[in-house]
Amino acid sequence: MSLPNTTHEPARELPIAAEYDVLVCGGGPAGIAAALAAARGGARTGLLELHGCLGGVWTAGLLSWIIDHENKQGIMPEILSEVQKRGGRSSGADGRPTSAYDAEIMKWTLEEMVSATGVHLHLMTRLCSTKKDASGRLTHAIVESKSGRQAIAAKVFIDATGDGDLGALAGCGFEVGHPETGLTQPMTLMALVTGLEAKSIRQFFNYDAASGGTFEPKERLNDLLTSLGTPPSYDKPTLFWIRDDLFAFMANHEYGVRADDAAGITQATVHARAEVHRLVRTLAGAGGVWKGLRLVATGSQLGVREGRRLHGLYQVGLSDILEGARHPDAVCRGRFMIDIHAFGTGKTRGLEKAPGKTRPYDIPARALVARDVDGLLFAGRCISGDFFAHASYRVTGNAVALGEGAGNIAAACYHTGQTPRDFVTQQYEQHFTQT
Ligand SMILES: Cc1cc2nc3c(=O)[nH]c(=O)nc-3n(C[C@H](O)[C@H](O)[C@H](O)COP(=O)(O)OP(=O)(O)OC[C@H]3O[C@@H](n4cnc5c(N)ncnc54)[C@H](O)[C@@H]3O)c2cc1C
Repeated sequence: MSLPNTTHEPARELPIAAEYDVLVCGGGPAGIAAALAAARGGARTGLLELHGCLGGVWTAGLLSWIIDHENKQGIMPEILSEVQKRGGRSSGADGRPTSAYDAEIMKWTLEEMVSATGVHLHLMTRLCSTKKDASGRLTHAIVESKSGRQAIAAKVFIDATGDGDLGALAGCGFEVGHPETGLTQPMTLMALVTGLEAKSIRQFFNYDAASGGTFEPKERLNDLLTSLGTPPSYDKPTLFWIRDDLFAFMANHEYGVRADDAAGITQATVHARAEVHRLVRTLAGAGGVWKGLRLVATGSQLGVREGRRLHGLYQVGLSDILEGARHPDAVCRGRFMIDIHAFGTGKTRGLEKAPGKTRPYDIPARALVARDVDGLLFAGRCISGDFFAHASYRVTGNAVALGEGAGNIAAACYHTGQTPRDFVTQQYEQHFTQT
């Protein structure tokens, strides 16, 4: 007898756990900035996050390195300054703080910043469904936590889940992967290592890419691991210097896994963790300058480079990146290269060829407004863009700026009573009537 492949979940009444002006789903770099901006704009703001800490890939993912933050104003430099005050940043060879940070101090800093701003925090709470009214406007997020299944009501919602869970659950159209193959960039499990003396392994890391970093240290590390009989699945293995007794280690690629495939992610996580242990043991076994190397921690979250790209009122495209687009409703200026990690189907285990060079470009507010559902904004890597544009704007300096932009729009909607769609469209149209 074959088992049926569906089952029926009976309808039930849900308690409404909270009511907010703005609810931000996902507490990564984008979600934190969105919540801070919305709360500072006067809106009663909730922030829900499935992990037991804030920061997303910064903390649960142990990323440890922030790209494209240097030209940002507002919340991005504020976070860096708060992390620095708590001793979570170090100065590189030129005496200036690098792009690295201590993930544990980042967790603490973000919790303090969010609490000081009056954001209502729901940790270890997963968004799992949504409810809309008869007009199609989003009204409730349905969540699961140790308190059971509950609803949270809000006037405006922000999807900062990275993978676009809220948008997809609410019925937004979206795209995933390369336009021709559907393949997505590989996932990576980050790690922290200790027991190395920085000056003895100087040829294997850059203090900061911004201060003249090159690929050579990664190539040396790849050659070393290969000569020891353990070629890493990412052939640009990287040591990020955090401080003299702490490095982040990025050396593995999990190919062909989609962000919405729970079984695939489970398998990839187990596989990646085993590879990280193997690589660290191999290096430590080589002795010499590597003798004391030890693994401190691996991420509790496999790093996802690419999930859903939700449909908004504007789609950031490759031409925006190559031509250095300017938009009257810009919320972020991106500058990072088009960084496509190998798909795993060709010869490279490193990076795919980029289709051109980035010229600093604007991301307009319209790319943050849901096209298919009312009352919904996007922030971070799930905003509306094509595959190649995403490969540039996906980094966390931009995620914070996009979150701040979405939070500001949400707060403005709270004050005007408008939907994000009406508010942003009106602002955009006003620009053309005034100029
Ligand atoms: C291995 C790797 C290396 C990278 N290297 C760099 C780098 O060096 N520098 C850099 O700046 N960027 C780097 N990036 C890119 C960058 O990390 C991401 O694009 C960035 O995380 C985007 O931020 P975000 O806030 O949109 O998403 P995320 O950081 O993914 O945050 C999303 C948050 O939402 C939560 N969430 C998800 N679904 C739900 C749900 N259903 N319910 C409740 N909560 C939910 C998650 O737990 C998470 O906290 C790298 C990415 C990876 C994977």
